[in-house]
Amino acid sequence: MKQSMMFIPTLREMPKDAEIASHQILLKGGYMKQHAAGIYTYLPLAYKIIQKIEVIVREELNRIGCSELFMPALQSKDLWIESGRWEVYGKELMRLTDRHEREFCLGPTHEEIITAVARDSINSYKKLPLALYQIQTKFRDEFRPRFGLMRGREFIMKDLYTFHATPSSLDEWYLSVREAYIQILNRLDLHYRIVSAASGQIGGKSSEEFMVLCDIGEDTIVYSDQSNFASNVELCDLAEGSPSPDGVGIIRHAKGIEVGHIFKLGTKYSEPMNFQFVDEAGKKNPVIMGCYGMGISRLIMAVLEQHNTNLKVVWPQSITPFDIHVIPMDKPQTLGYQEAMNIVQLLEASGFDVLVDDRNETAGVKFNDADLIGIRYRVIVGRKVSEGIVEVKDMLNHTTQEVLIQDLKNYQWK
Ligand code: ATP
Ligand code: MG
Repeated sequence: MKQSMMFIPTLREMPKDAEIASHQILLKGGYMKQHAAGIYTYLPLAYKIIQKIEVIVREELNRIGCSELFMPALQSKDLWIESGRWEVYGKELMRLTDRHEREFCLGPTHEEIITAVARDSINSYKKLPLALYQIQTKFRDEFRPRFGLMRGREFIMKDLYTFHATPSSLDEWYLSVREAYIQILNRLDLHYRIVSAASGQIGGKSSEEFMVLCDIGEDTIVYSDQSNFASNVELCDLAEGSPSPDGVGIIRHAKGIEVGHIFKLGTKYSEPMNFQFVDEAGKKNPVIMGCYGMGISRLIMAVLEQHNTNLKVVWPQSITPFDIHVIPMDKPQTLGYQEAMNIVQLLEASGFDVLVDDRNETAGVKFNDADLIGIRYRVIVGRKVSEGIVEVKDMLNHTTQEVLIQDLKNYQWK
């Protein structure tokens, strides 16, 4: 891919309203553009990374037996009246009226729709359990949208819902989804903690949050320095230095970014919305549910917070926008530049996804932009290209190696 064709509108100046590193990188690096408070266009570079995150999420959920569907963002008020949430959701719910004066909202979450979809076809224990998810744009009129994609008013979420005949089936599935979340966050190379949490607007009995550890996180986590005990401070306000409630270790505090939230809903929606099934004994019961959210657009920022040093980015290999960044030092219409293009062809033929900086820019501009684009491996095509030699830089390990062009395809790219 030619960089000139990718549309990566990097900025020379740091945008003033961006306070945290990930937000600064996304704006300065030409990853996204703000439209209004908390509403963004994902430009090609960011969108490519988001799609890779989505692939990982899909792989891990499909592996445990979930099916993907796609529900409407525009939701009728009637369903929200049925669940009892039309009144209680408050100003965060984006409400609108159609030409026939019928009221709707833009979905901040999809418990109402999924319950209505499932209740029409699931009436027997024989059809349970079931796990359905989507990856979709959500709308929440946040009081204080901030930090770019961290707290948007329009954002991408993965939401999964599970349906069960028995509490033990819910428990089993909850653990299985929890394990899938662990796999996803590990593949994204994140440092995180799983903490007990308050259930908020979604409701239900118990829930846990996946917190990416980071100083700019909006949540405070209390955790034991010696055991797995960890909780959101909202739920369990323990002073730093006090003994851990499980008797093991001392309480510490840390800041976290909530990237996922998993709930055992129980019958919070099935009861008011009259979603019942017939059990083995022929008796009618409300279906037992779980719901599991993950902030896809928030994740790209969480990864950036943990994978930049002084605004220089190295994306984890699992979601890198390209495998290799080829950077010719010579301007277009020179032999060196032509050789760089040949190298791109060679690497692409070997199956690598390559970005080449074909722009008529100085080396300084190219390197500054490359630091923001964050591809781990660079092939610098410079002076020695006439001898058939280029430089390979590993930006993660800070190593530079001279490599013969013909050996490039066998280089140990990890
Ligand atoms: P928060 O406490 O941050 O407002 P929440 O508890 O309201 O989050 P959920 O309703 O559980 O969030 O949504 C599931 C996931 O969606 C969250 O874990 C988070 O990663 C993401 N998310 C929630 N609100 C936003 C937002 N305004 N912008 C971006 N991502 C969000
Ligand atoms: Mg919220």
